[in-house]
Amino acid sequence: MERLQKVIAHAGMSSRRKAEEWIQEGRVKVNGTVVKELGIKVGPNDKVEVNGVPLEKEKPVYFLFYKPRGVISAVSDDKNRKVVTDYFYEIEERIYPVGRLDYDTSGLLLMTNDGDFANVLMHPKHEVDKVYVAKVKGIPLRESLKKLEKGIVLEDGKTAPAKVKFLSSDKKKQTSIIEITIHEGRNRQVRRMFDAIGHPVQKLKRERYGFLTLQGLTTGDARELTPHEVKQLR
Ligand code: URA
Repeated sequence: MERLQKVIAHAGMSSRRKAEEWIQEGRVKVNGTVVKELGIKVGPNDKVEVNGVPLEKEKPVYFLFYKPRGVISAVSDDKNRKVVTDYFYEIEERIYPVGRLDYDTSGLLLMTNDGDFANVLMHPKHEVDKVYVAKVKGIPLRESLKKLEKGIVLEDGKTAPAKVKFLSSDKKKQTSIIEITIHEGRNRQVRRMFDAIGHPVQKLKRERYGFLTLQGLTTGDARELTPHEVKQLR
């Protein structure tokens, strides 16, 4: 979401000052309604018209981003922390993340300016496998991991069955590396699932999203999705 005057200026129609004048003069409509306030924010799905002429839609762009730890999955942050769009400063389009990874989670995050695409992917019915690798405290028993596979009751309901693979453990440090595949996208879901079995997550990375992997990328890198990949994801 961005300020209306910025969106108009950004579309190349005017300076921001001029855009503000137009808004105050009642020449600007958002979704068919005249808007005279300057503070209003609009998103990529809002229809903005100036003097009856629709703003041209940006060309849709799609990126696969290897999010580092310590970055917010948002376009701005009121505490001025690093946000994912900081890595795309040379991209003109107003992109934003498709869903979220926690501040401390690294890994695969899609970025786009295509609202329909983002909505389709974020809809709960759109079941795409997301594969995470978690470093957890302790060495979980097989029975505990079975609980995750069956589904576990969290405060917002029971989780769908997960696939769980024990990868390794470090007896001295008392930590384990576990791969977990889920298709839901609840807030802090993987962390809460491991909390529920008494093995809190110390490090978390999303390795895979559907058929997409981080192959060829290092942390902080991004690449455009191919048109074929975009089609397959929808
Ligand atoms: N589950 C989590 O707990 N955190 C993430 O960032 C993603 C999934």
